[in-house]
Amino acid sequence: MRLLVAEDDPDLAGQLAEALRDAGYAVDLTQDGEEAEFLGETEPYDAVVLDLGLPKLDGMTVLERWRENGRTMPVLILTARDRWSDKVAGIDAGADDYLAKPFRVEELLARLRALIRRSGGLASPMIDVGAIRIDTRSSRVTLHGKAVKLTGQEYRLLAFMAHNIGKVLSRTELTEHLYDQDFDLDSNTIEVFIGRLRRKLGARTIETVRGLGYRMAQPDDAE
Ligand code: CA
Repeated sequence: MRLLVAEDDPDLAGQLAEALRDAGYAVDLTQDGEEAEFLGETEPYDAVVLDLGLPKLDGMTVLERWRENGRTMPVLILTARDRWSDKVAGIDAGADDYLAKPFRVEELLARLRALIRRSGGLASPMIDVGAIRIDTRSSRVTLHGKAVKLTGQEYRLLAFMAHNIGKVLSRTELTEHLYDQDFDLDSNTIEVFIGRLRRKLGARTIETVRGLGYRMAQPDDAE
């Protein structure tokens, strides 16, 4: 999952980026509203953390422009404490959730998990795909009830595919959702990780759709 964090307080932005990367997200960081608007228009983020008080272009305007232009990614706004009117205006402008500063990073992480889950049509933090169970809170995976050890990269790929179950995902899409802007990626990387997931979770876990990409499906739906 790839996130955009738009926050102009360098200390808070740094803390957020670190906590989110530790939690397994790819993170792009920006400190002004104009760049935030541009990135949100052009990059396929799975969720955005948007501070309302940003230089160059305020967060509310950024959000309104995204929504006018049909950008539907989940957006969590950061508001100043006690500015209840900001929360109302933000939600009316198309925000999906908000947090008032100061907040606990754990709460931000939980809210982001819920937003990403819901945008994938999932209600529960546990995702079952056949005999595979993914606990998105702890990033733990089991197969037939037994723990499977995955690296951070393998988990990110699996979780993204499980959030998009049934969809064919191209290599480009996978790359864009799993790595941040600055990541220099070898074109075979995704294939290597797909191969490792198949070895650990079963060859049929992920199917190759020739010429298009990869698909994870519930066993009953697979051909
Ligand atoms: Ca600010």
